[in-house]
Amino acid sequence: MLKNDQLDQWDRENFFHPSTHLAQFARGEAPNRIVSKADGVFIEDRDGNRLLDGFAGLYCVNVGYGRQEIAEAIAEQARELAYYHAYVGHGTEASITLSKMILDRAPKGMSKVYFGLGGSDANETNVKLIWYYNNILGRPEKKKIISRWRGYHGSGLVTGSLTGLELFHKKFDLPIAQVKHTIAPDYFRREDRSMSEDDFSTHCANELEALIQREGPDTIAAFIGEPMLGTGGIVPPPAGYWEKIQAVLQRHDILLVADEVVTGFGRLGTMFGSDHYGIKPDLITIAKGLTSAYAPLSGSIVGEKMWKVLEQGTDENGPIGHGWTYSAHPIGAAAGVANLKLLDDLNLVQNAGEVGSYLNDKMRDALADHPHVGDVRGEGMWCAVEFVEDKANRKFYAPYGKVGAQVAAAMLAQGKVIARSMPQADMLGFAPPFCLTKAEADTIVDATRRAVTSVL
Ligand code: PLP
Repeated sequence: MLKNDQLDQWDRENFFHPSTHLAQFARGEAPNRIVSKADGVFIEDRDGNRLLDGFAGLYCVNVGYGRQEIAEAIAEQARELAYYHAYVGHGTEASITLSKMILDRAPKGMSKVYFGLGGSDANETNVKLIWYYNNILGRPEKKKIISRWRGYHGSGLVTGSLTGLELFHKKFDLPIAQVKHTIAPDYFRREDRSMSEDDFSTHCANELEALIQREGPDTIAAFIGEPMLGTGGIVPPPAGYWEKIQAVLQRHDILLVADEVVTGFGRLGTMFGSDHYGIKPDLITIAKGLTSAYAPLSGSIVGEKMWKVLEQGTDENGPIGHGWTYSAHPIGAAAGVANLKLLDDLNLVQNAGEVGSYLNDKMRDALADHPHVGDVRGEGMWCAVEFVEDKANRKFYAPYGKVGAQVAAAMLAQGKVIARSMPQADMLGFAPPFCLTKAEADTIVDATRRAVTSVL
């Protein structure tokens, strides 16, 4: 086994890490962590730390670490048939079975699954399919896509544009011209504090309507949103939000993409976030929870309305020229089948709802009264704590992010619990694996309370 100092040197000399301050990393000022193993909700690193992973990796290891059923399914698939492509009608037992299992669980009205590798490429597929669809329908001007500020939809050229976070645009010449953003449905940060939740939802729908009118309804093809904002702040939508947004979209014949990369397969305590909030999407993006990250796999679930047009279009236009070498990769598909079975066999979606509510309630009880805790919010196995400098006047810390990072660092040092500090706000995010127990939820809450009290 390689020595730790050797790995550390190679890491700093050779490895280009995503979302990392490169200069600090190269100088050895920013820490690295070499993760070596994991089981249940715990990861272990090469320095001998055993840490409770309160964020399930990047909110993706939903069934927890070390699941032998999935490891075995992957190994068996690799031995039998490591790869074959999915072009021109090819498939495997795993990919065909998985498409059936996904559609059996998907909200009503969905028709087919197109497989990719990660959430970004699935959203890239969605945008291409939307453009293709409107071209077939003879409306080439209807191409713009609306997303929300603080939405997260990936980091490709189109998907980085859809993502409504400045860090993902800065110095990349994004967003591209076909992407427009509307306001984030964040009730806590509303400007007019006299608004009720319902008023604020109406305000969000009015802002969307105004944007559509400014751009011209005939130019807007689709709206994309996470059922519950994730990377942009873990924010449940205000009451009535999705109903009002969908009414606007229907009025202007605008397609709806539900980006369920995080909410898909149980994070909110229901199989899909669309079921949870009464969303009726035309396309659904799935990734992370599809395999619980045991292998890379994503999907675009295409609704009946679009499917009919796409299918009929091939008679005139031939096959749709879009595909990845690794679409429906058999190893990813085998992991997906085993993962969805495990979710059912262990009632993990139900557990996500029950233990998730327990975690949210306990977090609220422990912290809501703290003078620098402005908001404790969440849904299902997803929870956030947001800090403010002055609670009465809801004054945020400036610049954003430092205080949240300090609290997360204190949690790690004192409590050996991983929380995610989100740089676009002073907050901590929690999205543990669905197998979390109530005792483990207590450990997270205790570690958070201790860290908050010691830093603020
Ligand atoms: N969509 C959502 C809602 C996400 O949270 C993410 C990643 O966090 C993505 C898309 C992009 O997925 P990936 O990082 O697999 O490309």
